[in-house]
Amino acid sequence: MKKYIAPLIMFLIFETVALTLWLTKDNLFYLFNFSYIGISIATGLFLFIRKYKYARRVVQLLVGLYMLVYLGVICQENMQIEGFWYYLFTGVFEATTIHYAVAKIFGPLVFGRGWCGYACWTAMVLDFLPYKVPQAPRKKLGWIRYITFAASLVFVAELFLAHVGNLERIMFWAFIIGNVLYYAVGIVLAYVFKDNRAFCKYICPITVFLKPMSYFSLLRIKCDKDKCVSCGKCKRICPMQVDMTDNSRKRENGTECILCMECVRNCPKNAL
Ligand code: SF4
Ligand code: SF4
Ligand code: SF4
Repeated sequence: MKKYIAPLIMFLIFETVALTLWLTKDNLFYLFNFSYIGISIATGLFLFIRKYKYARRVVQLLVGLYMLVYLGVICQENMQIEGFWYYLFTGVFEATTIHYAVAKIFGPLVFGRGWCGYACWTAMVLDFLPYKVPQAPRKKLGWIRYITFAASLVFVAELFLAHVGNLERIMFWAFIIGNVLYYAVGIVLAYVFKDNRAFCKYICPITVFLKPMSYFSLLRIKCDKDKCVSCGKCKRICPMQVDMTDNSRKRENGTECILCMECVRNCPKNAL
């Protein structure tokens, strides 16, 4: 039973967040929301331990679809970055701001870019494309993320400065149009660069938060140098082109690791 402690701990962490937010904010939604996410992640970990090949994909679909369809389309909560700015400017510390604080700003100090590997609804679709392993070296295009990040901030700031009315409605349509754009750009880039995660590497504005925070991540892939035979298989199959054989925090593309565990599953020496 010892090996099932990790999913249990993960479930308990989320349940603690769920109960705390439910009781402090007197809103049953938080109990349902974080319990559901905790159960989804714990299920994925359980399946991973049972060596089920698609464990990560199960979590991605459970969490990603819930956020996209239920929270985004049905509840009309803009969970994109412009929604974060919007709720921040209005001073509302509710679902989207809490989501950003937990999953994308402070959470990465503990679980790195786990969000990107297990919950993001953009990557949930991109991961179905054929280029799971990049077919070419990484391009020096990471600067684009700062432009999309600034554009999202300027877009929301201008709405406020211009005193535009019916902002809730605009935010809902920004969510729908933004997602369609993300999917379109993400799919085109994946085919152009032969890399499913090209959008994540060059365009995604959320990485401006994710990368610096995940640099300090508690949870990270480590290499046992005594077992490693330097075969290079792990680096060949990594979707984010991380040098996981280097244990330093400054390792190549270290802040890109999405904890997909492909390197761990494929290491012939169990060195990771
Ligand atoms: S980098 Fe952006 S698009 Fe990619 S998985 Fe992370 S949050 Fe999603
Ligand atoms: S796959 Fe394993 S043994 Fe091969 S280089 Fe990577 S860590 Fe070392
Ligand atoms: S293959 Fe390993 S190093 Fe690469 S993203 Fe997945 S977990 Fe991280």
